[in-house]
Amino acid sequence: MAWVSQLTLGTFVEVLVLTCVFYYIFLFFRGTRSAQVLTGLVLVIMAFIGLTSWFNLDQLNWLLRYVSVYLAVAFLIIFHPEIRRALAELGKQNVFSSTGATYGGVDHIVRAVSTLSDRRIGALIAIQQKIGTRAIQETGIKIDAPVVPELLASLFFPHTPLHDGGVIIKGNRILAAGCVLPLSQKPEMSRRLGTRHRAAIGMTEETDAVVVVVSEETGTVSVSYGGHLSRGLDEDRLRRFLTSLLQRETRSTSAWDRARAQLDLTPEGIAKSEDMAHEENAGA
Ligand code: ATP
Ligand code: MG
Repeated sequence: MAWVSQLTLGTFVEVLVLTCVFYYIFLFFRGTRSAQVLTGLVLVIMAFIGLTSWFNLDQLNWLLRYVSVYLAVAFLIIFHPEIRRALAELGKQNVFSSTGATYGGVDHIVRAVSTLSDRRIGALIAIQQKIGTRAIQETGIKIDAPVVPELLASLFFPHTPLHDGGVIIKGNRILAAGCVLPLSQKPEMSRRLGTRHRAAIGMTEETDAVVVVVSEETGTVSVSYGGHLSRGLDEDRLRRFLTSLLQRETRSTSAWDRARAQLDLTPEGIAKSEDMAHEENAGA
């Protein structure tokens, strides 16, 4: 039992710290899309490592251990938008600030979008939430005006100086128009969609904004959030979608919960929160 005497306070602290770190990583990712991928990856690698050491395939075993380090890096790269957003959420304070103002805007935005959709006028409206968009606003023209449906719609009318690009809204204010939003980095998106829709998705990959798109070609209304795009929404669904997406922020009370919500961006996850909001509204 010589090793027992070597157990110092340092070792104890190390074990404690590692336990805490792994416990919180586990809690953070549990139940999210990233967790499913991570669990799958870890299980497959462990199974292969087990098999290769059982059959004494030393070279293969060494290779797998070696590769698994790179897979951890690959995981970080694949999920970097989600992880970055989650970390940005964790760093934020003032949980309840400014989100209340956003609700009043939903109806006005929906009315403007209906007008644009009926007339088949292309539009791109980004509703900023907690993550700032100053750099993107600076690519366009600064406006500080209330979200009035008629004004918002007219910003996209063809042959007007500001109609090209996106509008950025925060709370009840239109902050800027004619802004160049970042294009989505997902290659599979780029092939199927035009640049307006790619810019909507790109914006929500980079920030926690909710982006509404009206297609010039079809008049179809879509909403993007967390790098996902829901297409073909009618007025009622758009209202419910916006309300629930903008409510997500206030419903989750801690920064921890909101950060985890950023990692659960499957269409089912969003639909679930939409239904929850609908039930809440019906109950009220
Ligand atoms: P639509 O269904 O309306 O045709 P789309 O997704 O097919 O949309 P395009 O036809 O390429 O997209 O739309 C081009 C318009 O989208 C541009 O005129 C411009 O107003 C807007 N747009 C394109 N890229 C960006 C961007 N990065 N940021 C903001 N607006 C953009
Ligand atoms: Mg097009």
